[in-house]
Amino acid sequence: MTATHLMHSPGHIDPLPLPRQITPREDGRVDLIGLPRQRIAELFAEAGLDAKAAKLRAKQVFHWLYHRGVTDFKAMTDIAKTMHPWLAERFVIGRPEIVEAQQSTDGTRKWLLRTADGHDFEMVFIPDADRGTLCISSQVGCTLNCRFCRTGTMQLVRNLTPGEIVGQVMLARDALGEWPKGRMDGLDDAEDEGGYSADGRLLTNIVMMGMGEPLYNFDNVRDALRMMMDGDGLALSKRRITLSTSGVVPMMARAGEEIGVNLAVSLHAVSKKVRDEIVPLNRKYGIEELLEACSAYPGASNARRITFEYVMLKGRNDSDEDARELVRLIKRYKLPAKVNLIPFNPWPGAPYECSDEDRVRRFSKVIFEAGISAPVRTPRGRDIDAACGQLKTSAEKKSRAELERLWAEKQQALG
Ligand code: SF4
Repeated sequence: MTATHLMHSPGHIDPLPLPRQITPREDGRVDLIGLPRQRIAELFAEAGLDAKAAKLRAKQVFHWLYHRGVTDFKAMTDIAKTMHPWLAERFVIGRPEIVEAQQSTDGTRKWLLRTADGHDFEMVFIPDADRGTLCISSQVGCTLNCRFCRTGTMQLVRNLTPGEIVGQVMLARDALGEWPKGRMDGLDDAEDEGGYSADGRLLTNIVMMGMGEPLYNFDNVRDALRMMMDGDGLALSKRRITLSTSGVVPMMARAGEEIGVNLAVSLHAVSKKVRDEIVPLNRKYGIEELLEACSAYPGASNARRITFEYVMLKGRNDSDEDARELVRLIKRYKLPAKVNLIPFNPWPGAPYECSDEDRVRRFSKVIFEAGISAPVRTPRGRDIDAACGQLKTSAEKKSRAELERLWAEKQQALG
């Protein structure tokens, strides 16, 4: 593990995120991943190409980067060989470094990744019979302190750049062998076209549910997701991408308007008292305000329902009464909603236990009977700490006693 120097976060509820600055590469080269095509053309022009050549080269390079996944300029066969060293001297095709790759007995894969300036974060791939979901991170650490979440015991190190966010998808495609291998000269178009659709792919869906609160890194997340949806970029459908927030209410409408992907909300409780404890951001943006923002979320409909994530914590949020209140709230705000029930995934020092199986089933039944879908998620990758709420690099391991002490301090700070 790298020496990750964690900075202190300035507060615990809706703090001003004060992430570290990104350290530029020592060799001065610019990473092209995550840059819009227009910006690449500008960089090529600044480096000496005339405007027309810069535009053409940017188009070619962009295609190689996102449709072919090449990581070496020498592989760009429709660009003159003499240009390759010119490109390599000035630019790089970045990928987060893989520090460790683990595979669960259930097929779930987790990667510990490192940024070029030495900070670690995680990414998880969850294969299912009919889909493959990549859970990606938006920040190294997190400013929020959701109490069931292991990442919440880390402090924020820094925001991930658009390149580091898109880079996770690129890396997953590398690892899964999902780049089309056809030629660029149009002689094998059939294979080429087939390669760009979700059909037959292992990686079909993206969820921004890894480390961090995406809406606290809004600009970078927006730029990265746009690149993933760009037909000239990774060309993923917005219907296959989900952004998950703990409830940063003021940013939700912008997320709908400027990004437009599916929305998931970490709800986890239906009363102020319990949600204040589990998701402390609730003290800033309460449940009613949050649900109002959900009902105004652009693009939400019965065909594109909002997902409410609900972690099942024994004796805290799992009663029939809680389930009925959840139904009441969803109906009151007329939300096109589905509820994902997540059995709590324990981690060392966690202050909760998972609800009993019967209790989870009963809770789900109450919601289903009210006409709202509430599937119970099968925990995935628990044996490699890849399950929901378990992500945390080992940069900062704390004992149960230390976690309790920190928590008490935070409560005091909140008054
Ligand atoms: S659930 Fe998300 S927002 Fe909350 S602490 Fe964990 S990573 Fe941060």
